[in-house]
Amino acid sequence: MRQKKFILQEQDIPTQWYNIQADMPNKPMPPLNPQTHKPLSADDLSHIFNKECSKQELDTEHAWIDIPEDVQEKYAFYRSTPLVRAYGLEEALGTTAHIYFKNESATPLGSHKINSAIPQCYYCKQEGDTNVTTETGAGQWGCALSYAAKLYGLEAAVYQVKITMQQKPYRSSIMRTFGATVEGSPSMSTRAGKNIITRDPHHPGSLGTAISEAVELATTTPGCKYTLGSVLNHVALHQTVIGLEAEKQMEMAGEYPDKVIACFGGGSNFGGLAFPFMRHNLKGEKHTEFIAAEPESCPKLTRGKFEYDFGDEAGYTPLLPMFTLGHDFKPANIHAGGLRYHGAGMIISQLVKDGYMHGVDVAQTEAFEAGMLFARVEGIIPAPESCHAIAATIREAKKATEEGKNTVILFCLSGHGLIDMPSYESYLNGDLHDYRVSDEEINKFLQTVPQVD
Ligand SMILES: *Cc1c(COP(=O)(O)O)cnc(C)c1O
Repeated sequence: MRQKKFILQEQDIPTQWYNIQADMPNKPMPPLNPQTHKPLSADDLSHIFNKECSKQELDTEHAWIDIPEDVQEKYAFYRSTPLVRAYGLEEALGTTAHIYFKNESATPLGSHKINSAIPQCYYCKQEGDTNVTTETGAGQWGCALSYAAKLYGLEAAVYQVKITMQQKPYRSSIMRTFGATVEGSPSMSTRAGKNIITRDPHHPGSLGTAISEAVELATTTPGCKYTLGSVLNHVALHQTVIGLEAEKQMEMAGEYPDKVIACFGGGSNFGGLAFPFMRHNLKGEKHTEFIAAEPESCPKLTRGKFEYDFGDEAGYTPLLPMFTLGHDFKPANIHAGGLRYHGAGMIISQLVKDGYMHGVDVAQTEAFEAGMLFARVEGIIPAPESCHAIAATIREAKKATEEGKNTVILFCLSGHGLIDMPSYESYLNGDLHDYRVSDEEINKFLQTVPQVD
């Protein structure tokens, strides 16, 4: 019988993360202090984040970083995740391509986010912190963080984007099940939230507004650290456990990917899957193509600009060198809430700028069409975010078929969509729309990017 799934034994789960910064020909530019425009040190970052993650964020030296033993033990609750050959999808498409997916939906909270939530809470606990706070868009990160906080006896306060709180009502119940407190952002509980509501009483919220609120809480509360589920270098570092496992699993399958694809919000599942394979490209040993699938309503890689910009709407965070649509950018209320972020991670931005990877944009209806097909032939209902990766995969598979090639495609199934059924309901009822952003709109928001010499 042909093999469907490739699973690692617990002793083969990676014991180190891969820090691609050490191997990059052009290192990411440093984050800057927004007032002085001076590069930030790990000490500066540790006012907001725990010390170890602050160090990891700026580490351009060590290619391999040990995963603490306690984190390895928590990973073993659910890792390895399966690498799956998508025979069902291949047959439905009649493609000559070989399609594999790394199933990060097979985790306690149903997405890859837990891979970074666990180490972030572990380090906070080690360093004597008692509280963690964060923002969450679709709610996946908030759920993962709430669970990880509980594992380490920390209190969690989560700001959830208001619009997605309404679209995905069960996510806040999950967070509260794990003991977290949850507020819709913009809220009246922070100065940043009040300012936003004053300007725009019907603001639907965005990752940007929620980040402003969580950062404010962390900087004004002793023993409370801010945590982030995407965008930053240390988050992508933790997520490399995905790609490192996948590398071993592809070896079990006797293949190596020609194309690696993942959906793109801030870049953590994409970077997590891509970086371990990218290291062979950087050494000149392989020539894999890396494709980040972003929504056409929030196209920072394909249509944004590489600039220093704020990570949040209110301008509280350091200035980050990244592909951005402007920190004030208000993406349409698409159902892939996790992809509605104005910027791209710094490592990925640099690698895109240097031509090592690239983005493609996907319309919402194309994404859901792909997700529907995948659900029907593979039996897993994908998260709306992951549907973008599937749509990009289908495009590549069709290309391979036209060229008569056995292209090996590996994509990340970053999460399942079982708590996203209101989105599928809209699709099934014909109520989903596409939101292509005009050049004028993009240019308007890019005007808000601060000037840095
Ligand atoms: C958060 C999320 C994303 C987007 O975040 P990245 O950091 O770009 O990976 C994608 N898929 C799922 C299921 C998510 O929860």
